[in-house]
Amino acid sequence: MADLLVRAHERAYDEGGLIPPSPDRADRWLAAAGDWLMRRQRTIQAIQWVVVAVYAFLVIVPAFLPPPQHTAHIWTNLTLFAQFVFWGIWWPFVLLSMALVGRLWCGLLCPEGSLSELASRHGRGRSIPHWMKWKGWPFVAFACTTAYGQFVSVYQYPKPVLLILGGSTLAAIAIGYSFGRGKRVWCRYLCPVNGVFGLLAKLAPVHYRVDHEAWDRAPKPPAGTRLNCAPLVPVRTMRGAASCHMCGRCSGFRGAVTLARRSPGQEIVHIAGSEPKPWETWLIAFGLMGLATGAFHWASSPWFVAAKQAAAEWLINRGMTWPISAQAPWWVLTSYPEQNDVMTPLDGAMLFAYLLAAALAIGGAVLLFVGAASRVISDENRRARFHHLAQSLIPVAGCGVFLGLFALTTTMLHAEGITLPFIATARTLLMAAACLWSIVLAWRICGLYARNRGVRFAASGFMALAAIVGFAAWAAPF
Ligand code: SF4
Repeated sequence: MADLLVRAHERAYDEGGLIPPSPDRADRWLAAAGDWLMRRQRTIQAIQWVVVAVYAFLVIVPAFLPPPQHTAHIWTNLTLFAQFVFWGIWWPFVLLSMALVGRLWCGLLCPEGSLSELASRHGRGRSIPHWMKWKGWPFVAFACTTAYGQFVSVYQYPKPVLLILGGSTLAAIAIGYSFGRGKRVWCRYLCPVNGVFGLLAKLAPVHYRVDHEAWDRAPKPPAGTRLNCAPLVPVRTMRGAASCHMCGRCSGFRGAVTLARRSPGQEIVHIAGSEPKPWETWLIAFGLMGLATGAFHWASSPWFVAAKQAAAEWLINRGMTWPISAQAPWWVLTSYPEQNDVMTPLDGAMLFAYLLAAALAIGGAVLLFVGAASRVISDENRRARFHHLAQSLIPVAGCGVFLGLFALTTTMLHAEGITLPFIATARTLLMAAACLWSIVLAWRICGLYARNRGVRFAASGFMALAAIVGFAAWAAPF
């Protein structure tokens, strides 16, 4: 297969217009794979329709089925099967794929992206409003979706899945229909996981590399040869993988774009510092390391239970019982009395307070150390250094979220009597490796700015403490 791809690439090169074949076999294979994607857009579209059909079936149908019996299994009950597919496989491994192959999922398989682009091709084609380009959406959308998912128990029940995933898909179609022409405006500006995927894609060891000189040197493409980058990436000036959906449509364009290898830390160390991105810093510290960690912890947290009991006693002593007895609709707070699973207004308020406290405490502690590191390292451009150093925490932040989601996988498998051996050791080692990777990235970033070795050590020490906060927050329940 690899040889076939490479030969196709060489043939295409002989016909003109593509990147010259590299002498290195791995590079040739990668470049050929990029070209293959570019030439097989129809095949990709066919695969996308299969994904859309499977996704729609698993999102919609379980919401209308009776709850599974206690004796039901993943392989005998559609609701449990869909739950396992979405939260046990899809979410954790899509997240992992971002760090391994960039946003390939977004460009090739994501059902929301495919539907949004299709709607945009046949839609109103309006220009994108200014409010939609607000840079805070990735953080706000991620925080709201993560918190709301906890209030309605999205990991446990199919109706919240239909509401959250189905609602998000409808919004993606509506935005696609209204704005842009054949573009993925939703994915670019409003998708709740756009920010997280973009951060993790910075770690990917592959990307579409643009040779800017070759681009400028290349003759103007013939009339009608238009590059359609659906997520609106300015391809000519693209330097990283955060916004690129890896769809392959630009592969070989102007003889300047090619799928290529890179060092996994390259974008974070050498590119991420060129432009401070405060919203990405808030997303890393308060979103991934704070809020998401709190969302994985709260159900087993002794602090949460103790605080709830204290609040309940306080209310009872004052004769206020409705906050501990009232029920809300399932789309406001979890409400499944037949399964003894009801979230009262007090539960909801305490959960909100816990998530907020976790986000502020963990994120605040992390940023305190990042601030100290940026103060130590340089008097100039302290703000830019601060946001650049925060980028080094992407491995530890992303790994915490992956392992939090993967805990759902192991819990579901455990309920089926399947226990993964050495899983506790493996996840601790993985998290420790991610922590170490963050520290190494911070060390390399500090090397760019520190005026001497002592300063570099001191700043890296503060960054190591920031990474350790992330590790400790994740490890607390274990
Ligand atoms: S830059 Fe755009 S067209 Fe090129 S691979 Fe990325 S998403 Fe596709």
